[in-house]
Parts: sequence; structure tokens; C-alpha cells
Amino acid sequence: MMELDSLYQEVILEHYKRPLNKVLKPNPTIQVQHINTSCGDEITLNLHTDGKKVIEVSWDGIGCSISQASTSVVSDLVMGKEIDEVLKIIDSFQAMVLSKGTDSGNEELIGDGVAFAGVSKFPARVKCALLGWMATKDAILQATSSEGK
Ligand code: ZN
Repeated sequence: MMELDSLYQEVILEHYKRPLNKVLKPNPTIQVQHINTSCGDEITLNLHTDGKKVIEVSWDGIGCSISQASTSVVSDLVMGKEIDEVLKIIDSFQAMVLSKGTDSGNEELIGDGVAFAGVSKFPARVKCALLGWMATKDAILQATSSEGK
């Protein structure tokens, strides 16, 4: 793997070997599929929401360890949280991963997501790290914009 801090590397490997919520739960509010063609990563993500809170995120997918571990992290992190909070969390993670090494991440906000801080120095892997997070954001935005119509 890339030269990441070894503790962080362990966190990523752990999530890759034992991914959380990697069983699609039936009857989601919305299902999205995101693909990272540059690496061959693919995920399907089911979001259950009441419009205010993320009730559950479940997913399935294939791809590199970064993409799969990162999706495991975000699926666990956002469970049960208010949507406004979740969008803040995702934005914070995205800013870190796009920072080219200048933002080491806010652990209070993004939890195990900080393990991916080193990815920001590897532009080719940024999309891998973001895949699950952008899928979660997309699902939330679609689910909440279709409400009230
Ligand atoms: Zn990848």
C-alpha cells in the first residue's frame, strides 16, 4: 500500500478486511450506485432516512482497499445522525482528502475518516477515498430533495 502512517494503515486494513454495514438492507428510501472508473471501484449504497436523520446506510461493492474501507467508515459514522451534521462531516472529510496534505482531518467530526488523511498526497487515490462519502451525500441530497415535492 501507499506510504501511510502505520496506525492509519491498520485502521484502513481493518475496515477492508471486516467492512461494516456491507450487506444491502431492503426497502431503502433511496439506492445509489457510484463508480470510480479510474480505479475500477464500484459501490451500491442503500440509504434509509426519515428526512431528518440518517437511519441506516448499507452498501455492497468491489474495488481497492481504500475505496472499500472508506465506504465502511462513512457508513458507520453517519448512522443515526442528523442530516445537517452528516453533510458537515462529509464536507470536512472531502476538504481533508482534497487538501494535498495540508489538512490532517478533524477526528471529532470524521472519526476513523482521519485514517485517510495521507491519501490526499496521492491524487490518483483521492477518488477511491471519496467514493462512499460522495455516494452517501448524493443519496441524502436525492432523498431530501424528492421530499416536499
Ligand atoms: Zn480505488
